[in-house]
Amino acid sequence: MPRESKKAMQARATSILELLRSEYPDARTELDFGTAFHLLIATILSAQATDVSVNAATPALFEQFPDAVALAKANLEQVEACIRTIGLFRNKAKNIIATAQILVLSYQGQVPNNFEALLTLPGVGRKTATVVLSNAYGRPGIAVDTHVGRLARRMGFSKSENPDVVETDLEKLFPMSEWIFAHHALILHGRRVCDARKPRCDDCSLLEFCLQVGL
Ligand code: SF4
Repeated sequence: MPRESKKAMQARATSILELLRSEYPDARTELDFGTAFHLLIATILSAQATDVSVNAATPALFEQFPDAVALAKANLEQVEACIRTIGLFRNKAKNIIATAQILVLSYQGQVPNNFEALLTLPGVGRKTATVVLSNAYGRPGIAVDTHVGRLARRMGFSKSENPDVVETDLEKLFPMSEWIFAHHALILHGRRVCDARKPRCDDCSLLEFCLQVGL
């Protein structure tokens, strides 16, 4: 296959964005949250777990521990009991308590609106920090999870398996004003149509503009 020019790739990206916009006009995170603190904790809990499993557990967790002050003082076993239906719950219970303690000690119990500060919190990597900043504070970013990475490669927008590289590739391609939308829409499309094992290309609205790399 001849190498695609930058201009042609840009045009495809624009077309795909338009189609995603009409298919998922209200694309947003599927994690339930009321405050930036809830979003941070829910996002830490969602690593290698489904949003559905996190949403099922967080109401009871946040009823007992509604803010960083309450969670910082929590007993480990109590927290584990609230989140035991979520994968890796023992480690995550430790991480969210430690995170709450740092928020109380260093940020007056608030979630910092700062990427580097978020990265110092236990259980928070680039993806979680980007999700929190974009959804809680409206800061543009494309958090690359398994769906976004897979779709970017299949569409021919990135060759990399490294989420940081995929993030840079996508952020070069889409206008900054569309980063948050693109992140959510790609996740929804990955969940509903472009399945990891069985992508439904014949039913996919993006087929005309997708290179289907690796299928
Ligand atoms: S055409 Fe196939 S590979 Fe491309 S986005 Fe759609 S389902 Fe995924």
